Amino acid sequence: LSLPIHDAVLGRAAEYGDTLALIDGAGDMTLTYAQLDTFHRRVAAALADAGVRKGDVLALHSPNTIAYPTVFYGATRAGASVTTVHPLATAEEFAKQLRDSSARWIVTVSPLLEAARRAAELVGGIEEIFVCDQAEGHRSLLSMLGSTAPEPDLAIDPAKDIAALPYSSGTTGVPKGVMLTHRSMATNLAQLEPFIPMGPGDRILAVLPFFHIYGLTALMNAPLRHGATVVVLPRFDLDQFLAAIEKHRINGLYVAPPIVLALAKHPAVAHYDLSSLEYVVSAAAPLDSRLAQACSARLKLPPVRQAYGMTELSPGTHVVPLDVPNPPLGAVGKLLPSTEMRILSLDDPARDAAPGEEGEIAIRGPQVMKGYLGRPEATADMIDAEGWLHTGDVGRVDEDGWLFVVDRVKELIKYKGFQVAPAELEALLLTHESIADAAVIGVYDGDGNEIPKAYVVRQPAAAGLSADDVVAYVAERVAPYKKIRSVEFIAGVPRAASGKILRRELRNRENA
Ligand code: ATP
Ligand code: MG
Repeated sequence: LSLPIHDAVLGRAAEYGDTLALIDGAGDMTLTYAQLDTFHRRVAAALADAGVRKGDVLALHSPNTIAYPTVFYGATRAGASVTTVHPLATAEEFAKQLRDSSARWIVTVSPLLEAARRAAELVGGIEEIFVCDQAEGHRSLLSMLGSTAPEPDLAIDPAKDIAALPYSSGTTGVPKGVMLTHRSMATNLAQLEPFIPMGPGDRILAVLPFFHIYGLTALMNAPLRHGATVVVLPRFDLDQFLAAIEKHRINGLYVAPPIVLALAKHPAVAHYDLSSLEYVVSAAAPLDSRLAQACSARLKLPPVRQAYGMTELSPGTHVVPLDVPNPPLGAVGKLLPSTEMRILSLDDPARDAAPGEEGEIAIRGPQVMKGYLGRPEATADMIDAEGWLHTGDVGRVDEDGWLFVVDRVKELIKYKGFQVAPAELEALLLTHESIADAAVIGVYDGDGNEIPKAYVVRQPAAAGLSADDVVAYVAERVAPYKKIRSVEFIAGVPRAASGKILRRELRNRENA
């Protein structure tokens, strides 16, 4: 689909007219499709009038609000590349992203203005900070809606021009700017379309952040392209989330594993009427199939569907189609159309793994990023000369073409020559009724051997759970080399906004 992203998403907005595009789940503001269409054009005009030029980088620094898509598509229509910023980024982190991306413009919200101002001061070179709401001394998006400036008439080349510049999550390394063209994003929407049907009447809950590519795609681009209604929540709070499902009769959930965990285990779930739900999709991190089953059984829903992708892949490559009644347990999906995959041998990456064997997942297709901004070496490390993107994830494919993701190559623990996947042990730990959450990393024992260590969060009423209990529970259920050999109880597992475990924080704790 070779269209600018704003046209790919809002091409039919005028047609959807009075249908509600967005509802503020924390208040009662709404926006119709007709308004979204008009407003994003006015914002484009006002930004161009303010001096935004094609190719400029604009930093969008906001939690999820109903104004977010208006700013995003307004900015891309004005020719800018939008770099989405974590709303909780410190001024220093924000400054790093501004510097790395050479951003010239910032759009923020008044509660975050201080951080934006300090970040701008730290880097210099920022032309203007706009606010979505209102703040003294700053032009507001609301006033921009009254703009009478002419809509910019730009020739956007969807195959070359960068629509979005999200930063990789930084789970494994320094965050890098991922250059996604209009075409790679629009094409990925078209690729996903047949498998994740959405349309007028569907009510989607935007609880995952829009600044991350999963939220941006599944909760903003895809539903708004198809006339669905998006109920927007600024952050994840379990009660607010459950109340929003009940109040707005949400029918489709796109979440990450920690929310599946809450849906499967948390007592609060029983206090809400969640009968409007028709399906749950989980992506962004490994999901245990027992947990997925517990969630769908409790909510009386078809199996939780998974999808797989990464920022560098715009983001999707695999989904479990909603219309397959009983996908194999644990599958993350089937390959999307016009995408190629190889599973590379872990021993010799130059050759393919044997059929059914585990190996590194490599992808080629229109959704592959253009590269990391300003980092040709990091780009070349990831995308080889033939265009294959090496994901760094270990997976295997069964004879029917279902992909199973094992873990990240770098996270595999080497215990005496055997490979142990932390994700498998974490999943198993979560099946224990006294365990609320868990994370596993490799640590070194006194003899210099790498061993699996578990960090465990006890359920509120499970103070009696001991380290020996944890070790024994796992030992009874896995091959001996996979046994947990060290346990530490902690208050909470550190996670990224996308739900991923921040193993590096656990490692720092280990080395402290
Ligand atoms: P960084 O690259 O900076 O370390 P990140 O890889 O966490 O950050 P994302 O692009 O948000 O940044 O995440 C992509 C990764 O998420 C994939 O490489 C994979 O490891 C994981 N992932 C996504 N979907 C799934 C899934 N369904 N099952 C297991 N893992 C998944
Ligand atoms: Mg990554």
